[in-house]
Amino acid sequence: MAHIRAIHRSVTLVTSEFKLQNSVPVSCLPLPVDPLANCVMLHVGEMDKKPSVFNLTLSGLEAWSATRKEPRYRAKQILQWLYQKRISRFAEMSDLSGRLRADLESEFLLEPLVCVRKTGSRDTTQKFLFGLRDNTFIESVLIPANPALYGSASDRKTLCVSTQVGCAYGCKFCASGLEGWTRNLEPGEIVEQVLRVEALSGEKINNIVFMGMGEPLANYDNLLQSIEIIRAPWGIGIGSRHITVSTSGLAPRIRGLADQPLQIRLAISLHGATDDVRQAIMPINRKFNLAALMDACAYYCEKKHQRITFEYILIENVNDGLDQAIELARLARRLEAKVNLIPYNTVQGLSWKRPSQTRQQTFHRAVRKEGVDATIRLEKGHDINAACGQLRLQTMRDKNFAGSYNLR
Ligand code: SAH
Ligand code: SF4
Repeated sequence: MAHIRAIHRSVTLVTSEFKLQNSVPVSCLPLPVDPLANCVMLHVGEMDKKPSVFNLTLSGLEAWSATRKEPRYRAKQILQWLYQKRISRFAEMSDLSGRLRADLESEFLLEPLVCVRKTGSRDTTQKFLFGLRDNTFIESVLIPANPALYGSASDRKTLCVSTQVGCAYGCKFCASGLEGWTRNLEPGEIVEQVLRVEALSGEKINNIVFMGMGEPLANYDNLLQSIEIIRAPWGIGIGSRHITVSTSGLAPRIRGLADQPLQIRLAISLHGATDDVRQAIMPINRKFNLAALMDACAYYCEKKHQRITFEYILIENVNDGLDQAIELARLARRLEAKVNLIPYNTVQGLSWKRPSQTRQQTFHRAVRKEGVDATIRLEKGHDINAACGQLRLQTMRDKNFAGSYNLR
């Protein structure tokens, strides 16, 4: 418990029997394992105003050290404690002076995200629900190597991270948007998802996809700062080519990203190959229609000399007709984009369905016949609500759980 107290929040273990469909008891807390602890209750009032130390980049930390008349190399020393040694208390930074440790302690938070629920197990898709300081939740999904996507089995581990609490874009099929947008995540809250999942799973993550809850390009500055930390050799050290940002199509921001000196990968959530179909399920298409989106994507490809990916969820009788397959292929050919077909994951409370296997395959064949590189995503997470926002939604709608959380 000492550790928990040190992270400035009052955390109470709840031992009541608590079972939800497909969930397994968790012991995600940074505590000696308590077999009874299958959820955590956070009593947090106003959000702590101290910034997280994981928001800081090397230059930010150098500037901070300079104000304390500390040599420049202190910043790297501190980062080494955070990202190489993964310490959990400033007091453990044994080669820093007591005064500097005290300054860090008084100015920054070094508290791990609290994992409140986990589904799945090793070798399957694992989903982590994290409670934040203001009693909101985000999800991260750890996906093991997928031979269908990567050609052969490998030890590749992909983490799907969230960038916002909720989402303002309201795509009709998506769980993340159902309860609206609450706030942007800070860079540190994005970075910490990687650190915490590595600690909790014992896995080394080597691929990051920004496909969790929220619209990454709507939290642009924090997204870029988190990517800087995730990429940096002094940070987590995952190379740009192993980082993918997915967007619902904020055209001006796609152009902005193209102008950044970054070789990260870009995925576009297309889901409709004509304006009428796309507009019916993705309100953003009214603001940036397909023509504007495709122009922005063309700009990105040209600047980066990169192929982008179109994500296309297959939803029965909405966007799975052959006319859409032909139009989708036409859009993809223009940009030489790859197409990733994703059978729709059902969301509690929504009536959309995934098409039959036969219909999925017919659509897939039609796109490929037009000369496009298209794959159907082999779903690993369907049975544990792996599509973005679903675990959070299910949890928030569960009266027992939400009640114990004093949500908002
Ligand atoms: N906001 C960004 C990133 C998060 S969504 C975006 O829209 O791209 C990540 C991906 O999950 C998107 O392609 C999204 O369309 C998809 N998705 C959302 N709900 C889904 C569901 N129920 N089944 C399958 N994929 C879903
Ligand atoms: Fe938001 Fe992406 Fe979900 Fe649309 S698909 S509501 S943009 S998270």
